Amino acid sequence: MIKLYWHKIYKFLLDILFPIECIGCGKEDVWLCQQCFTAIKLKEIDSCPACKKISSFGKTHEWCREQTSLDGLVVAAPFGDKLLQDVIHKYKYNFIKELAAPLSEILINKIIKLDKKEDKPNWTSLLFSSDLILLPIPLHKKRLRWRDFNQAEMLSKKLASNFCLNHRPYILKRKRYTAAQIELKREQRLANIKNVFQVAKEWRDKLKNTKILLVDDVATTGATLNECARTLKKYGVREVWGLVLARG
Ligand SMILES: [Zn+2]
Ligand SMILES: [Zn+2]
Repeated sequence: MIKLYWHKIYKFLLDILFPIECIGCGKEDVWLCQQCFTAIKLKEIDSCPACKKISSFGKTHEWCREQTSLDGLVVAAPFGDKLLQDVIHKYKYNFIKELAAPLSEILINKIIKLDKKEDKPNWTSLLFSSDLILLPIPLHKKRLRWRDFNQAEMLSKKLASNFCLNHRPYILKRKRYTAAQIELKREQRLANIKNVFQVAKEWRDKLKNTKILLVDDVATTGATLNECARTLKKYGVREVWGLVLARG
């Protein structure tokens, strides 16, 4: 309880120190004005989650399948976008929940853009099928207490309601608390995340042949998404894709 209390004081101080103004241009009373929002461009070229080389729709290359449990990864915007980086940072570390709205809109726009592609092959039906289950990367309850909300879950919830998809944030849980991936080197990240997730008991016999889209804010090595996908596939999930705002 005491942590929650400090969190509220911290948020209160942030509100005083940083009054509402556009993160991009400083315009008053809005966290991200329409003009700055439009300046955040969607990623034009999609790439394989394992080798990062070009691959339409972000599908995992056949020859890269041994390296990842993900069937594909859709990245909405280029990581080099400084404004987007700032917005994500303010969302996660200054706890500005209102930013979930424009950030989820970026994800929605990317999906719509992919859907409009003329060369859309059959396998992309995953991203647009009505039986798709949306799942945010879960936070450990210790971190959830600290932040007061799961930043990935707020995005996946808005996405699910926009496309009328199933949103099931409680399928995956974190078994143990881990250091934030951002503080670790690549090899450490892989070891840090191994066997961290588990499928909730009530879901273990309900996942056979399902299709899942994992949602997170950013991916770096993709180790977290990959580990979630690996855990889900142990229970017969047929296809697992990832969707993130940016990849560092
Ligand atoms: Zn602005
Ligand atoms: Zn590849």
